[in-house]
Amino acid sequence: MQAEVIDGRRLAREVTDAVAAEVATMARKPGLAVIIVGDDPASHLYVRNKVRTAERVGFKSETIRLPADTSEADVLGRINWLNSREDIDGILVQLPLPPQLNTLRVMATVDPAKDVDGLHALNAGKLTQGSRALIPCTPMGCLKIIRSVIPDLTGCHAVVIGASNIVGKPMAALLLEENATVTQTHIHTRDTQFICRGADILVSAVGKPGLVKGSWIKPRAVVIDVGTSRVEQPDGTVLTKGDVDFDEAVKVAGAITPVPGGVGPMTIACLMENTLIAAKARMA
Ligand code: NAD
Repeated sequence: MQAEVIDGRRLAREVTDAVAAEVATMARKPGLAVIIVGDDPASHLYVRNKVRTAERVGFKSETIRLPADTSEADVLGRINWLNSREDIDGILVQLPLPPQLNTLRVMATVDPAKDVDGLHALNAGKLTQGSRALIPCTPMGCLKIIRSVIPDLTGCHAVVIGASNIVGKPMAALLLEENATVTQTHIHTRDTQFICRGADILVSAVGKPGLVKGSWIKPRAVVIDVGTSRVEQPDGTVLTKGDVDFDEAVKVAGAITPVPGGVGPMTIACLMENTLIAAKARMA
């Protein structure tokens, strides 16, 4: 039997429609500011999609585009200016940053109350303690997708491949909060395939196209593919590929997210939700 292919765009639309409905009732439009440094085409595409969605849900949105050689002092100065502004509720610094910029220092400068990417140490710490926090958008989007097919995760074995601060670690923390039993694997893990074969829920956040084979997947498992790699084809076209060998996995899994059209749209939807949460907290 073929797996259910989860429609991330439809789920994302449900989230953004709910955000837009609430924004329409607010006295002041929430404000989202995005800072992007450098010319990476994929990052510019992500930012355009975020800005377009922000405008659609009724936010005031502002994009600050900076050259690749921008100094850290300049970036931190701009973040501090956004921190001080009444009309800005959410600040997102598009990653990755050029090498002269220290990502942790940049994230630490964003006011935790406006940290809609959920990457400030205070929000990351709150997440691990299970208290209310702004939660990183991609793992939150993954969790919403998982809950759409498994409403109660209690006792499920969840395996997260990848342990970055942006995706893997907060994903594992969120699944733990949902009472799943969580195994986290990374580049140094021995026999990842064996571990994956025990997973009721498998989340892959690595960035290696085709890493996860059909034989790694437990029959009827829920497979969430966060990986987003741009792969050049023999004819010169570029395709976006996930970590999971989709054609193999779809024959084994119970439900699976496609790439594109799975986690990506939900990440943007959760950014909108976080901006609304931050705005409401600031207006309270
Ligand atoms: P990263 O490079 O920071 O982390 C990758 C992780 O994978 C590391 O923890 C590393 O140890 C692990 N890893 C590497 N090779 C491995 C292997 N062979 N087996 C097991 N683990 C291995 O990447 P990231 O920022 O976490 O992003 C991961 C992927 O998710 C990338 O493709 C990225 O583009 C994508 N991504 C997608 C979205 C989205 O919205 N769809 C958002 C963020 C990231």
